[in-house]
Amino acid sequence: MKKITGIILCFILAASCAVTAFAGESNGTYGAYDRVFIVGVDGAGRFFRDANTPNFDRIFADGAVDYTARAETITVSAQNWGSVLCGVSFIRHGMTNDSIAKNTRNSDTKYPSVFKYVRDAYPDAELASYVHWNPINHGIIEDDIGVNKQSNGDDGALTDEICAYFDQGNSPKLFFCHFDSVDGVGHDEGSNSPNYISQIETVDGYIGRIYDKLVEKGLMENALFIVVSDHGHLISGGHWGLTARETNTTVAVKGKSVKAGADMDKDTRNRDVAAMVLYALGTERPGHMSARIPGNLFNGVDGETRPVKNELLDTVIAKITRVITVCTNWI
Ligand SMILES: [Zn+2]
Repeated sequence: MKKITGIILCFILAASCAVTAFAGESNGTYGAYDRVFIVGVDGAGRFFRDANTPNFDRIFADGAVDYTARAETITVSAQNWGSVLCGVSFIRHGMTNDSIAKNTRNSDTKYPSVFKYVRDAYPDAELASYVHWNPINHGIIEDDIGVNKQSNGDDGALTDEICAYFDQGNSPKLFFCHFDSVDGVGHDEGSNSPNYISQIETVDGYIGRIYDKLVEKGLMENALFIVVSDHGHLISGGHWGLTARETNTTVAVKGKSVKAGADMDKDTRNRDVAAMVLYALGTERPGHMSARIPGNLFNGVDGETRPVKNELLDTVIAKITRVITVCTNWI
């Protein structure tokens, strides 16, 4: 009798496991993408919305766009690209512009980038990162996991290299690129200057060229395409602080299961891109991450609760500092 009961229990257990699904699995979201492309635009903050960006607009016409995704509390590039790529707060990863310029990062690090997790899940996949600002390749993306890393200090020339890379028949599972020219103009002239806005429009042209190349090569057929900024700029130029111009960032997502015209929920942060990458590729997310899938992003998928216990200090700081952002929204 015991034996029969045991068999029945095993059967019930197996049947219940078989119907257990990840959020979004049933509607073509979890693990439903072959590749993810991320375009990082340094220093562009929320300001895509103030520029004439026909490429951004047509690409994300059926996508989800949030112009007020929150940056890390220290609105500096390393802190933010570190979080976008590693899915933890700046407090956790501890990276600074100096540290990523000086230190090579390898896969034995405590809070690896999404490249490491995708590499573990797909040992033979092509992975690539083309950046203007080389410290990202040097000090954020691990050096010992076979990522094809290239850098070029001119955004236009970098775009040429990226298009040539795809022309050569490469089809990466995960691709990251980074433009830096908007940040340069932001430092010199501030975020209210015509040249700053016009530089975003120039980069919009680069984004359009890359996107069209992906379509031409058939690489967008089952891909998630993301544009993300790290921080914005003060009117006077520069960034470090907590004003809305600095802390509001753009996160734009296009893909077959992305809700058309959605704007994601209020708790969205630019670090959530890390969660989106792993989710789209069906790669297990490590328990330490505080990136989460925003609500109002994927069709039929509720937003996840941010795992506060992972980042208690960051959560408290972010809640307090958000007040400054809200109060400076009119500046
Ligand atoms: Zn800067």
